[in-house]
Amino acid sequence: MTYLQIQGIRMEFGDIVAVHDVSLDVRQGEFMTFLGPSGSGKSTTLYILAGFQQPTRGDILLDGRTLLDRPSHQRNIGMVFQRYTLFPNMTVGENIAFPLKVRRRPKAEIDARVREMLRLVRLEGFEDRRIARMSGGQQQRVALARALAYDPPVLLMDEPLSALDKKLREEIQHEIRRIHQQTGVTILYVTHDQEEALRLSDRIAVFSQGRIDQVGTGAELYANPATRFVAEFIGDSDVLPAEIVAAHGTHADVRVGEAVVRGVPVHGAARTGAATLLLRPERITLARGAAGGLPATVTDVTFLGNTFHVAAVTPTGDALSIRLPFGHEAAAGLSRGEAVSLSFDPASAHVFA
Ligand code: ADP
Ligand code: MG
Repeated sequence: MTYLQIQGIRMEFGDIVAVHDVSLDVRQGEFMTFLGPSGSGKSTTLYILAGFQQPTRGDILLDGRTLLDRPSHQRNIGMVFQRYTLFPNMTVGENIAFPLKVRRRPKAEIDARVREMLRLVRLEGFEDRRIARMSGGQQQRVALARALAYDPPVLLMDEPLSALDKKLREEIQHEIRRIHQQTGVTILYVTHDQEEALRLSDRIAVFSQGRIDQVGTGAELYANPATRFVAEFIGDSDVLPAEIVAAHGTHADVRVGEAVVRGVPVHGAARTGAATLLLRPERITLARGAAGGLPATVTDVTFLGNTFHVAAVTPTGDALSIRLPFGHEAAAGLSRGEAVSLSFDPASAHVFA
């Protein structure tokens, strides 16, 4: 059931259109991530939800009611933003209590709630510590505790972990997942990191140039990218110049080098002519010598434990990467400069006109 509806949001800053026409339905309790490169309109959309900015056009409904006629502090939305920081001279407990004090909750309730939040983010015993004396990761936990203290129906997070190192980031990602499951709060999360998005989200909205290109689970976006942008942004991909020689609705016959591959899923208008073929590195198989597939020359082989990463180049000079599982017959003996033949299931490829 739809809970939060973003309807046709447009945001102009003078001549700049930061958000073009964003619409999105979010279910109650869902973990929805806005994923996209810097400048694609993710934060602006989140700030509009938070009430920091009023959109040029469009509406936002929570449980069927518009949010736009309410100022930020009356929307009851929790926020963990980089610019919405903790109070460094207050203690951990005072920070978490702050939104409750603003709401004039009774002291006993505040105390109980602060303790509950400290337990939730696993910071029991830190109540009297000053923020300035907490590590980056601990501070993010406090920010999360403060944002959740008054039990908001929706929590917004804008790149909350981008200042942390990889190990700490993964640890807090794990915590965020646990807290999401434990509280059932609806989360809208912004990141430019696809791995983070895949790790955390129920669904991902892929942003590009102020628009949402596609919304889906990570697996849906990976298996069925609607645009070339989504295909290249989610997961690794090999991109080859190609030509659509025949189009049959959702599938096309595609020439790559000398070969014609039949029945490749096509995205966008399926018309004949120049196109781009996209392959996933783990969906390509490899045979040594000339074996009837796409010819290529090995340029490098790296063993990474469970996989071999093979770099290769086609006769037209296009570089490809291929992942072969450990145990793959041809992989172990491959050497640089060797001629190989590549093949793939047409259904696992994508062509973009
Ligand atoms: P993201 O969070 O995806 O990196 P933003 O939403 O911050 O992207 O920005 C989208 C676009 O809008 C960018 O081109 C940015 O420069 C522009 N923009 C954002 N805020 C403002 C503003 N207050 N004034 C002018 N331009 C802005
Ligand atoms: Mg941003």
